[in-house]
Amino acid sequence: MVMHIAVLTDGDTRVAITPETVRKYEALGGKVVVQGGAGAAAGISDSDFETAGARVVPDAAAAVRDADIILAVGRPGDTVIRACKPGAALFATMDPHQANGALEVMAGAGVSAFAMELMPRITRAQSMDVLSSQASLAGYRAVIDAAAEFPRLLPMMMTAAGTIPAAQIFVMGAGVAGLQAIATARRLGASVSATDVRPATKEQVASLGAKFIAVEDEEFKAAEASGGYAKEMSAAYQAKQAELVAAHIAKQDIVITTALIPGRAAPRLVTRAMIDTMRAGSVLVDLAVERGGNVEGSRPGEVVDAGRRIKIIGNSSIDKIGTTASSLYARNLYSFVSTLIDRDKPALAIDWDDELVKSTNLTRDGAIVHPAFGGAKP
Ligand code: NAD
Repeated sequence: MVMHIAVLTDGDTRVAITPETVRKYEALGGKVVVQGGAGAAAGISDSDFETAGARVVPDAAAAVRDADIILAVGRPGDTVIRACKPGAALFATMDPHQANGALEVMAGAGVSAFAMELMPRITRAQSMDVLSSQASLAGYRAVIDAAAEFPRLLPMMMTAAGTIPAAQIFVMGAGVAGLQAIATARRLGASVSATDVRPATKEQVASLGAKFIAVEDEEFKAAEASGGYAKEMSAAYQAKQAELVAAHIAKQDIVITTALIPGRAAPRLVTRAMIDTMRAGSVLVDLAVERGGNVEGSRPGEVVDAGRRIKIIGNSSIDKIGTTASSLYARNLYSFVSTLIDRDKPALAIDWDDELVKSTNLTRDGAIVHPAFGGAKP
């Protein structure tokens, strides 16, 4: 029995397989087919894939025709889905909340679709956690992007011509992206402070050598929701937080925001009035821009000029580190998919009752099955 694995591209700079993981899938008995040019933007050529043992085909339809397993970065378009074999298992980040009928198309094609971003954040699934691997890179890149726009230096420097002070960097939201931004800013020599609404972050921020700034009242002490995520804070808390942030931000050179609450619009943490108190040439990076933004005036994918040479960078250019982002994403995918394969056959052997499968599986046997998206089966 041959287990066919197809890899698609949708114009993202990342790719869902690397030569390293091609070899691993082949070692499990898979035959890998890659859509031509899929790795180009990540610095992986078609011949790199061929050397690793994959076959390269010109288009997506040819890639998926016989595929039992399909790997992608983003959700493939409807035409490609309709070209898939019924029963094929598709793994990608699916953006299921904004699917606009795509779940119905996947169900209609008989595809078993898995949304990698719904992977539960439990110890067993750590190596499969695409949100963490990509958020960590986004946090790193946010500091690099800010430094590139900033007209001064990050580290304190003593020169023959005098001493240059360290830049003051404030990180708002100390989850995966925020903690990596703090660590990166510290490595580059900045003086770093950070805030979050989850008490657990206080120690994490301090252990990275940054100063923790927060309104630590009773509500803060009870703020962590299930799964370690933040809760939406009360209007009273938000007002106290805004007052504290306003006083702090006026002394900052760079502000990096990463604050999110699952299923909600991003909290607005930095107002235009606060930006106006910052020094000329300051830089803000809003990693929450796609979810409405933490910073007033940020726009997805743009660098907004907020006057007085102040820049607001909407998003982190993770696309500029496609090679590393692909390498981690491909390993996350392999970690999950390899647990769904019976190596003796080799073939897919999915345990539909497994927690990781149930949490990520959107469609199966012609129906939408995920309860969060209208699925009937538990
Ligand atoms: P996220 O991207 O959902 O949010 C980013 C941060 O913003 C969070 O730390 C959140 O508390 C913070 N935030 C929300 N509202 C805020 C506000 N008003 N002001 C300031 N900060 C605010 O979070 P994430 O990076 O995905 O991580 C969330 C949690 O999941 C953390 O506890 C993390 O340790 C945990 N996690 C666990 C695993 C695992 O066990 N496998 C993996 C990854 C993350």
